[in-house]
Amino acid sequence: MFTGDYHTHTVFSDGKGTVMENAAAAKEKGLREVAITDHGFNIPTMSFKKYLEAKDLCKAAEDALGIRVISGIEANLISLEGDIDVKDEELSAIDYLTVGFHKFAWFNGLKDFMKMYAVTYFNGLITTGEKAIERNTKAMIAAIRRYPVKVITHIDHSLKVDVAAVAAVCAEKGVLIEINAKHLKDLEGQWEHLVQSGAHFIVNTDAHTPAEVGELSAPFEAAVAHGIEKERIVNYYGE
Ligand SMILES: [Zn+2]
Ligand SMILES: [Zn+2]
Repeated sequence: MFTGDYHTHTVFSDGKGTVMENAAAAKEKGLREVAITDHGFNIPTMSFKKYLEAKDLCKAAEDALGIRVISGIEANLISLEGDIDVKDEELSAIDYLTVGFHKFAWFNGLKDFMKMYAVTYFNGLITTGEKAIERNTKAMIAAIRRYPVKVITHIDHSLKVDVAAVAAVCAEKGVLIEINAKHLKDLEGQWEHLVQSGAHFIVNTDAHTPAEVGELSAPFEAAVAHGIEKERIVNYYGE
C-alpha cells in the first residue's frame, strides 16, 4: 500500500486530465495524497502564473474530495551551472519541488544546449561520453545543493549522470530519488549504485492521464527485486 503518488501531470503541462480528475483518480485508488507536478516554466504551456492557478485548483480538489492534493512542479534542469526554470523569488510559492531533465524544455544558453542537451537527442544512437557525464553530474548536484529539492525525477533518463555520485549527494541532503514507472529501463545497470547509496526512494507513476495515477506496483516491485529495502521507499507503508 502506498500513501500517495507524487508525480502526476495535468492539462497545465502535457497531461490529459484536470487537477480534479487526477485527484479523484488517486482517491479511487485508495491513496491519501497526490501531488500535481506539472513541468517547470521553460516549457511553452507552463508559467508561474499557471502554477498559481493550479495551486488554487489543488486546494479546491482537496476540499471537495477529502484527500491531500499537493501543488508541486517538476522543474527542469536548464544549465551546466545547475539552474532550474523556477526563479528564486518564485520558489517559496512552490509547495513541492521536484527536478528532472527534459530535452523539450528551453535551455539557458547556447553553451548549455551544445554541452548538455544536444547529445540527449541521440540517446540510443550514441552514448554519452565520460566528460559529458561528468558535466551533467556536476550540474545536477549543483541544483540539489542550491534549491529546496524534494525529489530527483527519473534519474539517468535522457540526461546521463554518474548515478552513484548524484545518489550520494541525495543521501547527504535528504533528497529522494524517484523510481519512475515510465523509465525503469533507464535504471538497468544502475540499481547497484542506488542500493549502495544511503539514499531513500519514492515510487511514482509520472501519470499523464488520470487512469495512470496510483499505478505504483510495477516501480515498487522492480525496486524491491533489485535489492532496495522496502523501508527505504518512503511512500510505501506495508501490505
Ligand atoms: Zn519528467
Ligand atoms: Zn513528469
